[in-house]
Formats: sequence, structure tokens, C-alpha cells
Amino acid sequence: MKRSGLFELSARNRSESGFPTVVIMRFAESKSYSCAVCGARWSYSCGPRHCEVSSGKSWFDVISASTYGCVLVSERFIDALSSINARGFRVVPATVELYEPSKGPTEAPPRYFALEFTSYVRLDAAASGYDPKIYCSTCLSVLDREAANGSYVPTKTIPDMSSYDGSDVFTVVRPDVGSICCTLKFIDAARKYKLTNCCFTPFEWDGDQRFIGRCIDYLGKKWPPDL
Ligand SMILES: [Zn+2]
Repeated sequence: MKRSGLFELSARNRSESGFPTVVIMRFAESKSYSCAVCGARWSYSCGPRHCEVSSGKSWFDVISASTYGCVLVSERFIDALSSINARGFRVVPATVELYEPSKGPTEAPPRYFALEFTSYVRLDAAASGYDPKIYCSTCLSVLDREAANGSYVPTKTIPDMSSYDGSDVFTVVRPDVGSICCTLKFIDAARKYKLTNCCFTPFEWDGDQRFIGRCIDYLGKKWPPDL
């Protein structure tokens, strides 16, 4: 498969007990989004947020809030973004506390932040396997619930490079999606800053290629890495 040179970032080992996971998030703001193509509208939570973390043994530069489609990042992560003059996002503060004070890291959490994006790359819906009769080609909303029920769920993500503005960090599909995507330039910054707990995977994936074992070895000896 031809690669775009774009990558997706997730927290590395979300299933291991050593890694904190955000289980509750409360947001200070909400915004609305409407799709210019299909007319779907919805509001979404955003802005500064309060997070509660379950389990984990120590804090990392990236921690998982996977049920919210995003991760929390440390101040060092923001420094790494600044070092490459990355744009196309705003940084919002996140307060973090433990869900159960007896469980989780014993050290107090460092300052955490979330990223909200103005830069995003759309998927090439047809190449990614989205049936245009069922899904909006732009926002991927389900247009036909009956047809979607039990139909093939796309397992590929192929970017529409005509929608990409060249940002080093961005999100995917719509501005309200929390996933962090990036270029190799940011992975290089993550390497220089020795950021912990990042899992970078090529943006394009097909079926099981996205699984955690495939994270790029951004802290390894070999650079640039095998992709
Ligand atoms: Zn749409």
C-alpha cells in the first residue's frame, strides 16, 4: 500500500495496569459542527477539562482517554510541539485526579493538557471502503441506518491528501475528533524529547495492522525507523 507519510498517535499500552487511563472527563465548553455536504449537525464537548484516572503506576507524557477519542499530553509533549513550530491546534488544560485515591500512581500528576484541532485530514471514503449510499463521504455520518445495520464496517483508513494542509499535527475527519495525527517531523521531536508512552502507527491501516505491537520504535537506535 502506498504510504502518505502521515501517522496516528495513541497511548502505547492502554491494557497494561502500569499505564493510567482516564475514565471520567468533564468539559467546560461545547461547540457545534455541521457538515456542509450531508447537513448532519451535532454538538460536542471541548475546552478545559477535569479528568479522573483509574489505576496505573506512574505518569507518562501521553495517557489514554481512549473512550473520548483523545489522549492527554504532558507539558514536555507541548514543548516538543513548540520545537517544530507545529500549528493547527489549541492547547487546553486538563486537571487530573484519581478516581479511587487508593488506586493509581502514588506521585501527584504532572500538568496535563488536551489538544483541539483546527487542522484535519479527511478520509478518502471510497478507498477506505465506506459505501457512499450508507456513509457521508465527508463527515462519515451514517446516512442510512437501516442499510448500515449489519453491513460491512470499513477497516481501512486511507487519507484524502487533497484535504491535508501540511500541518505537522492534526486530527482526522472532523475538528471534533480527538485523535492526534502527525508527520515524521513530530515523531523525530518525540524522539529528541524522549516522550514516553507514545504509539505511532502509519496513518493508513488495513485490518489488524493497527495493533499495538506495530508501534514505531521511535526511541530505538535505528533512525529513521523501519516503517
Ligand atoms: Zn456529512
